[in-house]
Amino acid sequence: MLSLAVATPRIMSHLRVDLGRADVGFGPSCHLSDTAAMANSLVPGFTEHLDHGITVVDTGFVRERFDASYLVAENGRGAFIDTGTNNAVPRLLTSLQERDLEPDQVDWVILTHVHLDHAGGAGLLMQHLPNAKLVVHSRGVRHMIDPSALLKGVRAVYGEEVTARDYGELVPVPGDRVVSAGDGFAVEVGGRQLTFADTPGHAMHHHCIWDERSQGWFTGDTFGLAYPDLATPLGPHVVPSSTPVQFDPVALHASVARLLAAKPRVMYPTHFGAVTDVARLAEQLLRQADSMVAAANELASVPNRHERLRQAFREIYVNELRRCGSTLDEETIRSLLSTDIELNAQGMAVWLDRKAKA
Ligand SMILES: [Zn+2]
Repeated sequence: MLSLAVATPRIMSHLRVDLGRADVGFGPSCHLSDTAAMANSLVPGFTEHLDHGITVVDTGFVRERFDASYLVAENGRGAFIDTGTNNAVPRLLTSLQERDLEPDQVDWVILTHVHLDHAGGAGLLMQHLPNAKLVVHSRGVRHMIDPSALLKGVRAVYGEEVTARDYGELVPVPGDRVVSAGDGFAVEVGGRQLTFADTPGHAMHHHCIWDERSQGWFTGDTFGLAYPDLATPLGPHVVPSSTPVQFDPVALHASVARLLAAKPRVMYPTHFGAVTDVARLAEQLLRQADSMVAAANELASVPNRHERLRQAFREIYVNELRRCGSTLDEETIRSLLSTDIELNAQGMAVWLDRKAKA
């Protein structure tokens, strides 16, 4: 599973192209030629049924246990939170069957934000769910109704071929099926309340969603990346995500504080699966984010800034893993985090440039 993360820097190196209206950035692309095929063949074991009617669906994007969608089932009704890409749709529909739900029993498709590893499959999924409404941050609404700008931006970065393989055609969602959400917005699924909190930091079009019943947050990327493959003797492990183009470390601190104020029992990050030990992970997340910012400030005007940022971030992540007793060899760590190191360096550079202009 690890060999796939042979990141291709070429793919990422033009991330700061002019994205026109697609100023929201987008998530990683995958680098395994057979990943799309893998996602389409319904491999067994891509769902995990948790307590409180929550199912984790591995969307198959990039590698196993990299990208999740969550199904929340309550009293014969359902809601999806994040969708993965188009390739995930067969898996999402299968997860409904496993919870004895028909497609017409799904009331909501909720997006934490509109990066394509979270939202790329939303339009196609909506075509299969006749009664569902799509709920998205007000800043992301237009991109779901008309995804052409998003797609154009992705093509400019990844090229025709990779875009077609990893994302396919983004399906527009009819405007009357899209609900624009803001802070404090809430929906009900079979009598169960899900409440939205505006949580900038990773992106300005990002909500985290509070589930009263499980006392947990669906955190998208705000609470970082919690790949199970990175777990240490201390338990789950998180790494911050500063993906382009709206990373904001000050906002991230405020958002994480806000998540903690609800005293969550569990977090459900999109990357990947449920994690507890929330206070320790929050500290770990912010400690690394602070180190990344310190490194970025130091390297702001060195000539080979991008490469230096990548090196610095790699060191920060390896050191944190070692601190927690990880015995993963360095090659494996690099492989698991190569895409994120690349994207985080890109995103931090965008932040540095924005700060310099302010
Ligand atoms: Zn993501």
